[in-house]
Amino acid sequence: MNKVLYTCLFLGCLGACNNPDSPAKKSFVDVNGIDSSIKPGDNFFRYVNGRWYDTAKIADDQTGVGSYSFMNIPQKQLLQHILDSVAQTQNAAGSIDQKVGDFYASGMDTTTINQRGYEPIRPILARIDAISDVPSLVKFVASELKTGNYSFIGFRGSSDDKNSGFNIAHVNQAGIGLPDRDYYFKTDSSTLAIQQGYEKYIGTLFQLTGSNPADGAKQAEVAYGIEKQIAAAHKTNIEIRDVHTNYNKVAISSIDKAQPNIGWTALLADLDAKTDSIDMAQPGYYDKLNVLLKSVPLNDWKTYLKARTLENYATALSAPFVSASFEFTKVLSGQAKEKSRGQIMTDNVDRLLGQALGQLYVKRYFDEDAKKRVLDLVNNLQKAFENRIRHVDWMSDSTKQKAIEKLYAITKKIGYPDKWRDYGNVQIERTKYFENLLSIAKNEYQFQLAKLNKPVDRTEWVATPSTVTAYYNPNFNEIVFPAGILQFPYFDFSADDAINYGGIGMVIGHEMTHAFDDQGAQYDKDGNVKNWWTKEDYEKFRVKTKQVIDLYSSFTVLDTVHIKGALTVGENAADNGGIAIAYDAFKMTSEGQDSTGKINGFTPDQRFFLSIARIWRVKTRDAFLRMYVNTNPHSPAMWRVNGPVMSRPEFYRAFNVQPGDSNYKPEDQRIKIW
Ligand SMILES: [Zn+2]
Repeated sequence: MNKVLYTCLFLGCLGACNNPDSPAKKSFVDVNGIDSSIKPGDNFFRYVNGRWYDTAKIADDQTGVGSYSFMNIPQKQLLQHILDSVAQTQNAAGSIDQKVGDFYASGMDTTTINQRGYEPIRPILARIDAISDVPSLVKFVASELKTGNYSFIGFRGSSDDKNSGFNIAHVNQAGIGLPDRDYYFKTDSSTLAIQQGYEKYIGTLFQLTGSNPADGAKQAEVAYGIEKQIAAAHKTNIEIRDVHTNYNKVAISSIDKAQPNIGWTALLADLDAKTDSIDMAQPGYYDKLNVLLKSVPLNDWKTYLKARTLENYATALSAPFVSASFEFTKVLSGQAKEKSRGQIMTDNVDRLLGQALGQLYVKRYFDEDAKKRVLDLVNNLQKAFENRIRHVDWMSDSTKQKAIEKLYAITKKIGYPDKWRDYGNVQIERTKYFENLLSIAKNEYQFQLAKLNKPVDRTEWVATPSTVTAYYNPNFNEIVFPAGILQFPYFDFSADDAINYGGIGMVIGHEMTHAFDDQGAQYDKDGNVKNWWTKEDYEKFRVKTKQVIDLYSSFTVLDTVHIKGALTVGENAADNGGIAIAYDAFKMTSEGQDSTGKINGFTPDQRFFLSIARIWRVKTRDAFLRMYVNTNPHSPAMWRVNGPVMSRPEFYRAFNVQPGDSNYKPEDQRIKIW
């Protein structure tokens, strides 16, 4: 994603949701997971989760275990259960149930998929062979983009950053197969192994489509070489966080002149995009692409496009392609064994028909009363945040007033969309997995296209209802909590307030703080990039943000790997603000005001912090952790706990943290933005 628009939490519930103390009396603190040999002030994450962490096993087909949504096994099993059931039912043609069930069934039908080999993509490879010059090459790229075969053009329709009520076309840097541009240039041993694994993977794909091993290796080298040149023109994931330099609205006529080899007028016509301007998020990338289109021999470009096509579709083809893809995943993430086909397809349905599956999910599993209860929490958090803004000592009254206006302008979305995505044009047949994928991708492209140069639809959701996540969208100035996150350990109707405020309360505070993180602070209450700060206040805010960057950059994750403070600053600021606000809101409840009543031997304040450490209970493979730190804007789980608590005086009081404890911070080194 070119513009870091949506800052999701990537969190989730996990197997240990089955509480050890149940069923007689539900206990919301996993006492058995606590390692009481660790002092809370030394490492709070390990204190709360240590015994769990040391005994938790990462399944061979997983990259980790715990609360990140993408490794949330119980939630995935729940979704698979829905899919297994609708796939076995006779559903009315064209109904949501039919589309979801038959799409899932088509992907489960590996007999047909294996029989077809790579026949589904033969026509695409033939079209690449037929490319005769640069214009026909660009034409091919455009036509494939409309069916989801992405290469060097990144295209979507969404809000204009400076006129947020209106959608425009955005083009962003694209065209590489490794997770991030840095992967092409780093020279440490683990990155070198990934580069080699990647080239080997591309070579295997060429062999599977008829090349001999020597030719396959040569083709891989050519494709990789082009990707590396493309990657050199990419901005880093830190540079992409700069809201201003990643917004460049340009007239088509001017880029047509500046980048004649791309030929924007013809390209946009091929994309059916009627527009006279676009936001070219990273112009440097397109300048370089324009040069490469002429400097790289046409035959090499064709090899590159074949590689991109093969990679894009490898997991949709027969078993040898799927295995080749997994061999590379192994190198990249450390995952030892492929997931079951059922779990792979569950992920695919959730990703590709998420609002269809979401309808089935909420009908079966969502308690409507949760909406009301969570809305109450959101309102309490909002009051607590207002109070914090009023009392910060570094902001002038005029900026405070603007901040409070923005805070109360935040739209709250809870559970699932009021208006579901329309899948009317999606054609799903039980025996045609590949064609189903194309039909879904076409529908998605038309959805993007239909938005161009029209008012935004503020009912739109970008997360699926079943996902255990939450997000803030700066253009909509909204916070969104899908049904999936409204369950333990984030939220439970029967849990005491300390647990819910340390759980979903912390998540709500986190998302609200995104409205005022390094990026969010640059958007006004209507979602426009527009300065609403006084110069002095913004300078002070930047100094505080820099302190967050420096603190987190000092945390070591693995051997030589440190957290990238400048990449994770927004999330870390949100974690720090989220805790402070959630704690204040908790103190407004009757349990919060009671400092004596213990449950499971813990005071209300202690339970609040235990809950925070519990929602980030995650253990991952080292290879995965390396990739995560390099590419993900969130800090790894341990630092999502220890990072914020080391700055909270309430935490110090609750657990008697003293100078000399490993994570003790003198007052002047603690983060305090809000
Ligand atoms: Zn976030």
